[in-house]
Amino acid sequence: MTHLFVFCFALPLLLFASADRSGAAEPEARAVKYRLGEATVWAIADSLGDRQMNVFAGADPEALKRYAPSGASPSAIMVFAVQIAGSTILIDSGLGAVGGERASRLPAGLARAGIDPAKVELVLVTHMHGDHIGGLLRDGQRAFPNAVVKIGRIEGDFWLSDRSMAADPSRKANFELARQVAKAYAGALEYFEFGDEPAPGFLAVDAIGHTPGHTAFLLESGGERLFFIGDLLHAAALQFPRPDINASYDMIPEMAAAARRRLLERAVRERLPVAGMHLPFAGVGRVEDAGEGGFAYRPWSD
Ligand SMILES: [Zn+2]
Repeated sequence: MTHLFVFCFALPLLLFASADRSGAAEPEARAVKYRLGEATVWAIADSLGDRQMNVFAGADPEALKRYAPSGASPSAIMVFAVQIAGSTILIDSGLGAVGGERASRLPAGLARAGIDPAKVELVLVTHMHGDHIGGLLRDGQRAFPNAVVKIGRIEGDFWLSDRSMAADPSRKANFELARQVAKAYAGALEYFEFGDEPAPGFLAVDAIGHTPGHTAFLLESGGERLFFIGDLLHAAALQFPRPDINASYDMIPEMAAAARRRLLERAVRERLPVAGMHLPFAGVGRVEDAGEGGFAYRPWSD
């Protein structure tokens, strides 16, 4: 059996990319549907665009020149929705209104997927940066009025701690956003530990480094698996071949690089397809060992 057949889960059933016929400000929906065992996985773009290389300041200039000669790498902000056992579960929520003029495509993408925000039962959060929790709010209120939000204990403790906030004034806006989210979802905010199953079939995996409690989720359904790797990488073109290179967003650089290598090695070893929040749309693909310490990424559409 070839690798291609091993990874046959990733059959894109439908691709939606319609133009915005109304001419209104609402951005167009981009959503792709996958089947994974008993689950349906929607890969929904919250925003699209290239990642500029200035977030890799200090990185080996030869690597930047070689892997991103244009000075940018295709990227996105992805949200994943999993429909399983009658429930709808989101993984992260995109920028939402935090993006300002970069209007979120998530509401349009959910509508295109036929997902009513009021029917979302659970949002699993990989970490509390604004481009992952901003979409939890709409006009300061719950964007998902009936959802429970689950966050890793270490991550929640960090962003909601007054001591952390006082120690890092440069991230004040992010700390304040975390508080707004916690306030809006008061009574519906829960915490998990690494190794827990925050939802049936979802295993919380330690991916600490990008943030103090960064979490990956390993979903298994019907004998098939998909590894949601959060913000393990920000520029696929650069960081798969050079996993030692961190983005300026990586808060604990040594641990971020170690987690990137550890989780990508696991993806190769266990033949786990990955879903990443900043991989180019549609954010799902396979990882291969490229030798010399590097990896290669194969989007599903290859
Ligand atoms: Zn991010």
